[in-house]
Amino acid sequence: ELPALGIDIGGTKVAGGVVSPDGTILETARRATPGASVSDTEDAIAAVVEELAGAHDGELVGVGVGAAGWFDRTGDTVLFSPHLAWRNSTLRKDLGARLQRPLWVGNDADAAAWAEYRYGAAQGSDLALMITLGTGIGGGIVLDGRLRRGSHGVAGEWGHMRVVPDGRLCACGNRGCWEQYASGTALGQTAREVARTSPAAAALLLERVDCEPERLTGEHVARAAYDGDPLALELVTEVGYWLGQGIADLAAALDPEVVVIGGGVSVLGEMVLRPARERLDRALPGRGFRPGPRVVAAALGAQAGIVGAADLVRKAVAEGE
Ligand code: BGC
Ligand code: ZN
Repeated sequence: ELPALGIDIGGTKVAGGVVSPDGTILETARRATPGASVSDTEDAIAAVVEELAGAHDGELVGVGVGAAGWFDRTGDTVLFSPHLAWRNSTLRKDLGARLQRPLWVGNDADAAAWAEYRYGAAQGSDLALMITLGTGIGGGIVLDGRLRRGSHGVAGEWGHMRVVPDGRLCACGNRGCWEQYASGTALGQTAREVARTSPAAAALLLERVDCEPERLTGEHVARAAYDGDPLALELVTEVGYWLGQGIADLAAALDPEVVVIGGGVSVLGEMVLRPARERLDRALPGRGFRPGPRVVAAALGAQAGIVGAADLVRKAVAEGE
């Protein structure tokens, strides 16, 4: 059986992989996401596809593209994207014309959810929710073995549930969205706030950016947490707290069996999952009298989106779509 290409387009990077039918990634490539213009983003996608297709031409099933955007039911149109330039954009048509290969396009976190159901931490689950923590929070739902995308294609956008009235401004245009408190971006933003107001407390973090607080990103904080910096650990714990609170709310609405945490921030593993589970235990409505979901790290880590997109194009081709 032949491999397929999976491409994952996030707020900061276009990552691709050649993926075999058993979910193994054989080769990867990546570019920064030029997010300000639709055609630049499409150029980056095409470049990653060409780079990967080179050595495998003629033996690829197709290209699956999971993108950080809100797709309509048909998958033809990206209605909106908080972090990239898509607004009612005809992504499928544009990429179809450029790539001339069988194509699946859809939401990045949906692709990740599918990968975890097929090969990872959600196997065998009747209702699994995916939460990806990266530039934003992405979401996906697999119910009874099928990816569910809602009546209009945009189910699972729980990164934009309001968790703080009049809170931080979000790229979607609203205030107080969950992803402003529990994502890589949130980690960076809180670190910058602390570094500006209490530089002494943030001394170790500031060393990483030549004492320029505005340069701090979530990745700096994640690395510092790994190295045991107490402030960084506290900031990661806080992200875990917000994550657990949001999961309690999702459990109230949907009662999933498992919630899988993926995306860049999930490489922190238990540093973020432990406080999330602790908060979930305290915030789950009806706690003590009802079962709650398991909260686990993505088995495919930050590469779930690549693997899922590849399998979804394989599935689409097999089903003759
Ligand atoms: C977007 C989602 C996307 C997620 C992760 C969110 O801000 O609304 O569509 O899946 O970021 O990239
Ligand atoms: Zn938002």
